[in-house]
Amino acid sequence: MSYHIDADDIIIYAEEAPWNEFAKKNGAADLTVSSILNKSLYGFITGHTTRHLTQLLISQARASAKAIQLPFRCDSPTARRHMQMHISPGGGTAGDIEITTCLIREEPRERLEILDASIDHSEAMLNFCSWCNKVEVHRGEWMELEDAVRALHLMENPLPPELTHGMCPSCLEEALKVVRT
Ligand SMILES: [Zn+2]
Repeated sequence: MSYHIDADDIIIYAEEAPWNEFAKKNGAADLTVSSILNKSLYGFITGHTTRHLTQLLISQARASAKAIQLPFRCDSPTARRHMQMHISPGGGTAGDIEITTCLIREEPRERLEILDASIDHSEAMLNFCSWCNKVEVHRGEWMELEDAVRALHLMENPLPPELTHGMCPSCLEEALKVVRT
């Protein structure tokens, strides 16, 4: 899946079919290509830290005129999805950036309600890392969702907690390393 942003980080192009398919698969079928064009990329990134870091990575790609590659996870309730993001200075107008995400590997998992945005969640909040998809179980201790569900006995609750989108310290460190090189 690939999309382009201009020098002001406005989405100016997205591949129609893969984008729409991806949105549908992630329970966001209303997020079609026509609904995202000419809008700021940051309107579609949840979480202040993630937004800020994406901004830094894009500036870095522009300043260095070199592509940046970063692994990330984009899990669904039924699969762990290992992805790779490429942020490349595009041809064409100065400042244009092409962002491509591709699936490296997909592992099926037993269905996790906590990742299902279409069902009700409780008032409880759990810190979720947007990059590695781990959650903070105790202060400073991050785990894969399955392990967290067990450790926190979440199956005993009628509703899964809400996930707040942020970044764990190790992903933040990795990304900042990229920005600083
Ligand atoms: Zn992380």
